[in-house]
Amino acid sequence: MAAVQCVKCAKEGEAITDTLFMGKLESEIKAKVCKDCWKQWEGMRVMVINEYQVNLGEESGRELVKKQMRAFLNLGETVDTSKLQQNFKPQA
Ligand SMILES: [Zn+2]
Repeated sequence: MAAVQCVKCAKEGEAITDTLFMGKLESEIKAKVCKDCWKQWEGMRVMVINEYQVNLGEESGRELVKKQMRAFLNLGETVDTSKLQQNFKPQA
């Protein structure tokens, strides 16, 4: 099992092996984020899209999701996530 030092949970975790289709960000994500945290983001992503009514057919919509992702995964982005935190209920 490949391990990665995760910037999100600050632990060593299992590396992501699936293809993420994240283009340029793919290698950065895989180098810095563990599988579990990526799974969390996948759940969060659905919420981001719903909350912000993101149109993924538009460049601006994809950018918004990307920014939220970088902020969520601690990849050096700061965005206003207050709207999401109100509704975010972490899975037990
Ligand atoms: Zn992690």
